Amino acid sequence: MLNAEAVCRLRLEGALILASNYSFLPTMTTHHFPALRPEAALSLADELHGKSAAEALAIIAERFQGEIAFSTSFGLEDQALTHLIFAEDLPIRVFTLDTGRMFNETYSTWQQTLDKYKKPIETFFPNTQKVEDMMTTKGSFSFYESVENRQECCAVRKIEPLDRALERMRCWVTGIRAEQSDNRSTMHSVEWDAKREMVKVHPLFDWTHSQTKDFIRTNNIPYNPLHDRGFVSIGCAPCTRAVREGESFRSGRWWWEDQSKKECGLHAGTTLTTTLIPAEPHSQ
Ligand code: SF4
Repeated sequence: MLNAEAVCRLRLEGALILASNYSFLPTMTTHHFPALRPEAALSLADELHGKSAAEALAIIAERFQGEIAFSTSFGLEDQALTHLIFAEDLPIRVFTLDTGRMFNETYSTWQQTLDKYKKPIETFFPNTQKVEDMMTTKGSFSFYESVENRQECCAVRKIEPLDRALERMRCWVTGIRAEQSDNRSTMHSVEWDAKREMVKVHPLFDWTHSQTKDFIRTNNIPYNPLHDRGFVSIGCAPCTRAVREGESFRSGRWWWEDQSKKECGLHAGTTLTTTLIPAEPHSQ
């Protein structure tokens, strides 16, 4: 019988083999340092094991100085991470993707965050020509018509800007929590992104929803008022609705599609997962 650690190691080895099979692919980022290998994720995972979110952020901020970025969409988890980064003045770039279809409440939260911390949040918009072409040929609500159209819209409005935002980065910090969906519960707090040849760290991976809310309240962090109206995971306005009692956290996103795979492509399909840190409660 394998113990949890042995299972983790086996999965990592599988991922390393898989990643090495991608070595023929051109590197999409222009690194000015020796390229990272998947093994970097393993050693980082060992180092972060048992650390609180704040401790983990401090370690990776120092390790990847100038090459680490955090993507925020101003949801509860992202606001908690923004607070941890800005309050401690950690050298981590904070950026957001403005898809052009966001809620007014999200823009208000964005502004309140700027007002509170007085730190820059880098903004990435979609490629103008691509948005114009898509809107001209398919109109304003093509994403309701088919999965392909929805994925096209997410690719134009989110993935291409994300790729630009992460150029030359070696570490990507996200607000993903395991509890958010069945799909996310199979992810891990430190992963290897083979497409971008970088490590991904989810410092709040094992936080609960109530733990996150408590942290926001205790630290008086601005948050999106839509959370108080039943919105749990907040994305673009036409693709997000409030969640009813008993529904999963991500069920309000792209509700007309398969319930088990609610991702916009930012995370799904781009990461060869390395199982590195079994989830354990963190102190923060
Ligand atoms: S969430 Fe909806 S509006 Fe936003 S990029 Fe994806 S399909 Fe387009």
